[in-house]
Amino acid sequence: MRCLVISDIHANLAAFEAVLHDAKVRQLNYEIVWCLGDVVGYGPDPNECIELLCTLPHVCLAGNHDWAVIGKLDLHTFHESAATIVRWTQDTLAPHNMNYLRARPERLEHGDFSLVHASPREPIWEYVTDVNVAEENFGFVETSYCLVGHTHVPILFVKDGRTQNVHAAFASTHVQLTFKKDSRYIVNPGSVGQPRDGDPRAAYALLDTAAGTWTQHRAEYAIHHTQQKMRAAGMPARLIDRLEYGR
Ligand code: ZN
Repeated sequence: MRCLVISDIHANLAAFEAVLHDAKVRQLNYEIVWCLGDVVGYGPDPNECIELLCTLPHVCLAGNHDWAVIGKLDLHTFHESAATIVRWTQDTLAPHNMNYLRARPERLEHGDFSLVHASPREPIWEYVTDVNVAEENFGFVETSYCLVGHTHVPILFVKDGRTQNVHAAFASTHVQLTFKKDSRYIVNPGSVGQPRDGDPRAAYALLDTAAGTWTQHRAEYAIHHTQQKMRAAGMPARLIDRLEYGR
């Protein structure tokens, strides 16, 4: 199966549309979208992003921002600027889109792939940012592959089948990886709507489960268009500015 793997759209419609357009131009021919959560939060288009996702064959996990918007997480755990947007999103989301977020699962398994927003140990909250955290998390997943988002940084962690050592590799632009059969992986496609690896372009990946390949892509989008809408909605300047730095 060919899966378009996306995460952390964060209500950035221009970025999401650019990813879908880029995948079409590259003729990636995906059969399904695997979305790893945080469809809303930070950006100006929460309704439009949920509704666009719903036009596609897809599965979608719950993220921490999604949970905050539906009242499942205490806003005190959020940065003030993020909390401001969670409240704005609560006022903006249509009831049917609220219901969509309420129905998102914390974990999914498809064959040898586990899907969570954050980490297998803490599906909503934990950041898998380094090798040590990844190593601990391999103990909380039974499948060979685990897909995560949440950090907004494309990365892959490999547990070598022979040595059992864990190492990390940043998945840079258009890098294709062929999974080794005896090894295990935790892979993050990066963020569509608010990248934090210094590259402001929208990040996504194409997973081919039959071929055992993971290909990382970036798509340019009209960042100023999203920024204009955020300004018009009175969103915090810090969140508007960071989009053009990818931090
Ligand atoms: Zn996020």
